Amino acid sequence: MEKSVRIIPIECKFGPVTAFAYYVDAPEPAIIDTGVNTSAIHDIEPTLAEHGINIEDIRWILLTHGHVDHLGGVSELWEKTGRRAKVVISKKEARLLRDRNEHIVDYKALQGKYIKDPAIQIKHIEMLKTDIGANIEPDLEVVEGDHISLGGDITLTVIETPGHSIGSLTFLIDGLDWAFAADAVQMYGGLGGLPTIETPTQYRASLHRLLEEVQPKRLYLGHPFRNVNGELQNAQIEGEQIKAVLQASLEMDAKLAEIVKSHLSNRSLTDHHELYGPYGKIAEEIGYTGDPRNLPCAFFVTINGYKEELFGSLN
Ligand SMILES: [Zn+2]
Repeated sequence: MEKSVRIIPIECKFGPVTAFAYYVDAPEPAIIDTGVNTSAIHDIEPTLAEHGINIEDIRWILLTHGHVDHLGGVSELWEKTGRRAKVVISKKEARLLRDRNEHIVDYKALQGKYIKDPAIQIKHIEMLKTDIGANIEPDLEVVEGDHISLGGDITLTVIETPGHSIGSLTFLIDGLDWAFAADAVQMYGGLGGLPTIETPTQYRASLHRLLEEVQPKRLYLGHPFRNVNGELQNAQIEGEQIKAVLQASLEMDAKLAEIVKSHLSNRSLTDHHELYGPYGKIAEEIGYTGDPRNLPCAFFVTINGYKEELFGSLN
């Protein structure tokens, strides 16, 4: 009999955002990603119950990366398992699990540089504090090539796919080549209207690696992302569609790199747009109309990423 594993996508909803958590059926069942603080009770527990699964039976909580909409629900979920589940995160982002103040440090270092209005900054920081549960110590800090056994013959390989964030991971089910890549693959971006790319060089390399080396047979993403026409697509992808999704992500990356380069290469930024700061012209050319006062906002993170790719991080 051909090997198969039951996967249950769990839609974690908060505000306008949908983030996916995934249940992986195994002798030691796993949840990959956890939504925000309220998701364990509002979304994960009831969805599992509909499938006859008790949340207490979860034995692994695996995090693809440290962003609030993936890691925020960990502590509540862990409590629901009677504190028995093992919590796994990339070594590079374990600090975001241990100390939620680190999210505020990151916010201030990046978006905070561009969002000058103190009232908006306070609103954003309050959101981070509400959406992330208690600090929690990881059981396992993983790196490229690590293996996680969920019991029986079900094992996962850890593949580092940085770029969306520095510690973004893909979990690959061995023997099936089903890849939980979450936000390492974003096509033309999510609800915020742009892909969130912290380090474009790495993002591009991760996409090439998935496309050419990993060649997954199923791809499980973190959100519904947009196609070239701006329509939100299914986050669970199979077969030939996978190539198209990876190629669309590379196309958007190439477009962003070119636009940012053409605007910043002379470095004479005199633009001071009300919403987009020095990047008003770039927003216009990309066709970006989002409002950075409303989170999630990819704009500053992504444009800053492409700027640093051109000039280094000290500029
Ligand atoms: Zn993310």
